[in-house]
Amino acid sequence: MTGTDPHDLTALRPRLPSPLQEVVDGRFERLGVRLLLKRDDLIHPEVVGNKWRKLAPNLAMAADRTVVTFGGAYSNHLRATAAACRLLGLSTVGVVRGQELAGRPLNPSLERCAADGMRLHFVDRTTYRRTSDPETLGALLRAVDAEDAVVLPEGGSNAEAVRGCRALGGELGEHADVAALACGTGGTLAGLAAGLPPGRRALGIPVLRGGFLTDEVRRLQIRAFGGVRGAWSLDDRFHCGGYARTTPELDSFAEDFERRHGLPVERIYVAKMLHALLALTQEGAFPRGTTLAAVITGRPFP
Ligand SMILES: *Cc1c(COP(=O)(O)O)cnc(C)c1O
Repeated sequence: MTGTDPHDLTALRPRLPSPLQEVVDGRFERLGVRLLLKRDDLIHPEVVGNKWRKLAPNLAMAADRTVVTFGGAYSNHLRATAAACRLLGLSTVGVVRGQELAGRPLNPSLERCAADGMRLHFVDRTTYRRTSDPETLGALLRAVDAEDAVVLPEGGSNAEAVRGCRALGGELGEHADVAALACGTGGTLAGLAAGLPPGRRALGIPVLRGGFLTDEVRRLQIRAFGGVRGAWSLDDRFHCGGYARTTPELDSFAEDFERRHGLPVERIYVAKMLHALLALTQEGAFPRGTTLAAVITGRPFP
């Protein structure tokens, strides 16, 4: 088999388990809390972080079919899918939210997708929302000439992906009391929580506003495992106004964390989670002696 054989994931060979590193940070230490970084950003140079965990099981079953998936103009999931499909020799179509983007110069994220061979198809927001409806999806697949495609949802969070993320909980095992991660669709949290041993818990920090994620994570777990699994909760106070929104405080926190620990801090997700962990520690949310694992789900682009 060669690395480009679609049944063979050799070209996606990961570094697993991802490294678990202790950081010494006086702000946590002073309050008796240990901080570990679960470096999922180091799993693969191009298919980064939780995107590897979610895509690998899906692409292993794609055979030689085209992969169609969905995302916004700066989607980490679209970039990861494009890179993975290039490495595996699969053709792929990215359905991008925002008809107004068509015919304009591509932003650097979409440019990377295109350079990796992803065909980009722009749709208006109403159509984008309706692609969960089979008729709309069918028409879309015909329009991109990919009727027998493997269709992965936005963010890649289907049942296969959620089951793939269970291994993250298994790797963390008894190393930490609380595993924290930033959530978009909630798929990674759904899998991680299911993979943790009894007595350990997962804490999700949503980066979107709206408070809809508890129901969504439950729904994803029921679809993947037949029921709600593991101990998990969400804290909705740290999205800083919504997806890709930031505050001067969050920016300076992220810059300072990079300087202190030499970790490149991805701003859309990872910065909000780390900031939340510090705020919660300072609020006294974790008793002395608690070990936290912060899951570094990605790294900055470019
Ligand atoms: C996609 C992504 C997430 C969110 O993962 P979900 O499974 O959608 O919740 C978190 N962090 C980073 C860096 C991501 O790229």
